[in-house]
Amino acid sequence: MKVSTLLGLLPGTALASDVLSVAFFAKEKNHLYDFISTNNEIDYGCRPVVMAADGEHKLHAIISEEQLHHFKRSLNSDVVRIETLHNLNKRQTATAPIGKGDRFKGGKVAPRGLGTRKPSEYAAFQSAGILNADEVYTAMKGLEKEYGLTLFTPPHKTFEGTSLIGGVASKAEKVKKDKQHIYFTSGIHARERGGPDNLIYFISDLLYANEHRIGLTYGNNTYSNSDVKKALAAGIVFIPMLNPDGVRHDQANSNLWRKNRNPASATPGKPRSVGVDLNRNFDFLWNFTKHFDPSTSPASTDPSSEAFYGTAPFSEPETQNMAWVYDEYPNIRWYIDLHSAAGTLLYSWGDDINQSHDPKQNLFNPEYDGKRGIVDDELYREYIDQEDWDNISYQANRTTAAMIKAGGSVFEPQQAVGLYPTSGASDDWSFSRWHKNKKVNKVYGYTLEFGYPTNFYPTSAEFIQNIIDTNSGFMEFILTADEIGLKG
Ligand SMILES: [Zn+2]
Repeated sequence: MKVSTLLGLLPGTALASDVLSVAFFAKEKNHLYDFISTNNEIDYGCRPVVMAADGEHKLHAIISEEQLHHFKRSLNSDVVRIETLHNLNKRQTATAPIGKGDRFKGGKVAPRGLGTRKPSEYAAFQSAGILNADEVYTAMKGLEKEYGLTLFTPPHKTFEGTSLIGGVASKAEKVKKDKQHIYFTSGIHARERGGPDNLIYFISDLLYANEHRIGLTYGNNTYSNSDVKKALAAGIVFIPMLNPDGVRHDQANSNLWRKNRNPASATPGKPRSVGVDLNRNFDFLWNFTKHFDPSTSPASTDPSSEAFYGTAPFSEPETQNMAWVYDEYPNIRWYIDLHSAAGTLLYSWGDDINQSHDPKQNLFNPEYDGKRGIVDDELYREYIDQEDWDNISYQANRTTAAMIKAGGSVFEPQQAVGLYPTSGASDDWSFSRWHKNKKVNKVYGYTLEFGYPTNFYPTSAEFIQNIIDTNSGFMEFILTADEIGLKG
């Protein structure tokens, strides 16, 4: 039986049947690439990541019990074997709760992060739980009321008629649109719980520390008040929840919902066929069947897939809103899209291995259509200017070092292609804009994956640790950006 038909067995509204976090192991990494290519409808998380593991190679995925039986029957375990890590349904009893009600009282109360608090105060955070989708809005209103944070509403409403909310954290009293150099987003993949929280609490910390003339502490990292001022002076534009419809759906159903809620391409009776994977919808080699080697699967044309790319580049209001920010704030230079769950900081490019000697091998050159995405070959590698490569990898090393020092988790800096390509992602599209049109600012784009592999619903303790890890990372990222340069 084909895996795509098995996926239909995944229930649409609740985890009624067992959902399993598994890892596939192989001695040869090529065997895992082949596995991904022939099983491209499986849920590999944000993107398939093949990593080294004790002399073997490992690939994480989320599958149903039916799929597990299928693989146990069909896989030659001498080549690729499967191990069950945990049962996500059973584990869910231990996950951090979604907050009830509104802890910010419609915006009368401002959020305050962990960096300005003592660890003895973290327990209250844990019990209040993850921000519900409405609280993301009232938290932002609270920051506006308390500190005068500038809010904005991107122009495109979601399928369910929701407006997104964004903010600009800046040192200047009146925000100048051309003085903002940092851009952060989160919540594009709905199920990646804690993403919006990480971002909102970080901004809350900066604003609180600035007002009270104090520094910040995240685990083993401390930052001075002058670091805080420097971070705000860099000018931070942010959208904490890019995919509010998806987040609401995931929070209401706890069904590991990833995509948005656009039903235009859906098949009636197949609830998982609703929605577009927004992080395959950006205009970066979007039409992957044309641009990539046919043996690779950087996205999917199947609406039932978790990696469904939509009907056109930027077909979705959420991705249009993300892009609109670059038009409004034209001097953004550094971008992070926050995801979970892995423990990596990914930098461009994501379509093939980087090289800096042949500018003709670039994503806009039609001569190389059909050749991209095979990481082990020399037929095509993506061109990157050496200075850009040095800058972005230096930044990734510095930021991951700070996150590791914070004390909780393992983080690895990695070129986004890792060992498997992706098309249509926000980080690569951000970096590619300047390559297409030299009149726009050059942006260094990153994907920060916090947490532990395929663990999208953190426990309460992990939820707290993720805030500490990512907030250290954000702070270090901005300070390093300031050191390398905020202007193009
Ligand atoms: Zn993601």
